[in-house]
Amino acid sequence: MVAEWLDTKIPIISTGDMLRLEIAAGSDLGDHVKSVMATGGLVSDELVNRILRRRITQPDCAKGFILDGYPRTVEQAEYLDELLRERGMPPPVVIHLDVPAEVLVGRMVCRRQCSKCGMQFNILSRRPRTPGRCDACNAELIVRKDDKEEVIRERLRAYDDLTRPVVSYYSDGSYFQIAGDRSPMYIFEEITNVLESISGAAAGVVKQ
Ligand code: AMP
Repeated sequence: MVAEWLDTKIPIISTGDMLRLEIAAGSDLGDHVKSVMATGGLVSDELVNRILRRRITQPDCAKGFILDGYPRTVEQAEYLDELLRERGMPPPVVIHLDVPAEVLVGRMVCRRQCSKCGMQFNILSRRPRTPGRCDACNAELIVRKDDKEEVIRERLRAYDDLTRPVVSYYSDGSYFQIAGDRSPMYIFEEITNVLESISGAAAGVVKQ
């Protein structure tokens, strides 16, 4: 069944990526988002909900979609429920990749991103073929501004205050917690098992 899902090419939607596109566009909205991201805080529910609605009402989302980094607050979770109801879609399946804070800090300070195509690398676990250069387009790799340690700590505080309650919000629904500090193969198999155990539902991912 998972193979069939992969064949349908359901879109993967990252609110963080959409916000970074706004920043790259250099709009007033992008400038505002940039200043919030630089502090490690969350942008407003109203703004994120609006860009999410715009995205998931596109035709390629009609058969379902994977959300990455959304919902991050209980208000966003309530908004998503309402939006799915409105569109006649089932409630989300939530996969929580749970990673201890110190492991997350270690991973994020080692993350590098292509300045052109956005491809992600990690100087410990996923090194580029040529140091400092993207494997796909050879552009320079950069450290995301919000991957500096002091900003990461602030992001983790925002997670504890605002996102952790989302886990309780979903405790009565299709919620699956997976240890995220294991090998990619282990995590892949665990996610595959979850997907095999459900059918015909929309899926969402809450990441720390
Ligand atoms: P990410 O790429 O998911 O790590 O997100 C990077 C930053 O974008 C976060 O630290 C927030 O400032 C902002 N962001 C992304 N998704 C959301 C969301 N669902 N709600 C509020 N802010 C978000």
